Amino acid sequence: MNLDDVYSEIIIENSRSAKNRRKLANPTHSLLGVNPSCGDEIILELEVEGGVIKDAAFSGDGCAISQASTSIMIDLIKGAKMEKAGELVELFLAMIQRRESDDSLLEPLEDALAFKNVANMPARVKCAVLPWRTLEKEID
Ligand code: ZN
Repeated sequence: MNLDDVYSEIIIENSRSAKNRRKLANPTHSLLGVNPSCGDEIILELEVEGGVIKDAAFSGDGCAISQASTSIMIDLIKGAKMEKAGELVELFLAMIQRRESDDSLLEPLEDALAFKNVANMPARVKCAVLPWRTLEKEID
């Protein structure tokens, strides 16, 4: 199994996973993200306290790439400070836009590295960045 297969598997598994797909009881932020070019729509909920993302979850519909990207992003930002989440967003966008390709620098992205090759599929880039752009708007 080559690395591309491993990455495809990470995306498929996460797109089907229900673990981050729920409603928060006390969200402090409810963020809508829409990608009309594919029909992806997500609602990202955060519970932020003292600058820390205590909990995060999402609901919505869309293609495997958008849904997997959202779930993986939630795994990464849960428990993180908002500034740290902002750094991860910047790193993810740098990877997708090919401004950064050094794997050692991209390491903090963990499973989100699976989207590296989406940079070669312009039509899918908007799907992959949807949750990250949605979060970025809130952090800015
Ligand atoms: Zn999509």
